[in-house]
Amino acid sequence: MPRLGKNTLLSFWEHNGWCQGRDIVIIGAGFVGLSAALECRRRFPSASITIVELSPLCGGGSTKNAGFTCFGSPSELLDDWRVLGPEKTVELVAARYKGLKELRKNFSDEEIGYEATGAIEMFTQGDEKLEADVHEFVPVLNEALIGVFGGEPFSVGSEAPGVKGATSVITSPFEGILDTSKLYRSLLQRTLAAGVDIFNGCRIESIEADGDGYRLDFDYGYFEAKQVVIAANAFASDLLPELDVAPQPNRVLVTSEISHLEFRGSCHYDRGYVYLRRLGNRMLIGGGRQWGDGESDEVENKLIEFLKTHIAEDFEIEYNWIGHLGVGESRDPIVKTVKPGLHVGVRMGGMGVAIGSVIGRQLGGLPQL
Ligand SMILES: Cc1cc2nc3c(=O)[nH]c(=O)nc-3n(C[C@H](O)[C@H](O)[C@H](O)COP(=O)(O)OP(=O)(O)OC[C@H]3O[C@@H](n4cnc5c(N)ncnc54)[C@H](O)[C@@H]3O)c2cc1C
Repeated sequence: MPRLGKNTLLSFWEHNGWCQGRDIVIIGAGFVGLSAALECRRRFPSASITIVELSPLCGGGSTKNAGFTCFGSPSELLDDWRVLGPEKTVELVAARYKGLKELRKNFSDEEIGYEATGAIEMFTQGDEKLEADVHEFVPVLNEALIGVFGGEPFSVGSEAPGVKGATSVITSPFEGILDTSKLYRSLLQRTLAAGVDIFNGCRIESIEADGDGYRLDFDYGYFEAKQVVIAANAFASDLLPELDVAPQPNRVLVTSEISHLEFRGSCHYDRGYVYLRRLGNRMLIGGGRQWGDGESDEVENKLIEFLKTHIAEDFEIEYNWIGHLGVGESRDPIVKTVKPGLHVGVRMGGMGVAIGSVIGRQLGGLPQL
């Protein structure tokens, strides 16, 4: 029975129409949750499928990211290589690149604002140890990844257009940038058109086994679902504490328009902890978690200083926001059935733009009706 106490805000219609007796409830309306819903719809054309999302739109990385279709800069991949080993690293890069190809197959470049700009990783004075390690690693990495890209993805150079003070750069033609709002909107429209309900403004607080399915409580009601899919990324461990994923705050800044901006495409610095890209005539810069707490003024000031030193001096900051990466011991996503009827797909390792749809599809393949 619905909880019709004095704190209950749901009407009879809302409870019966949206919350009761659902076949599949997906928690989180990010790229992964939306893609999982589309896959569930493909597999179960007449199932009732609801996505529950705590924010008015999306509260996670999927609308707060920088819009790189990244598969890992060489220094990030060196980290992965050390943690996960060569085979898993190659698998991960292949999945991310496949994600980009799938996105471009499912949506036109116009629909997602995709630009095949290529990307660079840059090194500066003080990075000598990392720079030497990465230069040594690039030929090994190129050989391992040649089958994924059909050519060597990385080449070492000394400079890049519009970048000042780099001691060296590594370029890759395969990474691009897209318009995050266009991608999210396109995916959202497709999900709604597939007859999936989205219930916004609702934070799931607990998931309890209930008969043959689950009961998902929120502060003014509950859902009943035969199958539950957790796509809550950074905050998934609030629901399943045993998951190795935690929120990592990341600041993003966007400048005012900069005249005579020469920088093109995107750039990674220091294991991907700092990322920058061109956005029209503005620059976007984000990250800086190697410098401290992502929400601190110190990190914000260092990001601005980095932009002034290496890209342009004359700008104001016009947009400034925080998003949360879902990170853990390693950067490989967790996609699994935790117990019968309860499935999870989280931890995109700060690189979910391209891989999110692939992981979402895998996750949407887990529920059984
Ligand atoms: C600042 C920033 C910059 C980034 N830049 C890039 C980039 O350039 N390229 C790239 O590839 N990746 C980037 N990422 C990472 C990428 O955005 C994420 O990996 C991807 O969006 C994750 O998608 P998701 O669907 O797993 O999670 P999310 O988009 O985080 O979605 C999870 C959703 O679950 C909801 N939720 C959580 N808990 C609950 C609950 N209890 N009840 C209801 N809803 C809940 C949240 O509100 C959220 O909307 C960036 C991330 C951040 C934060």
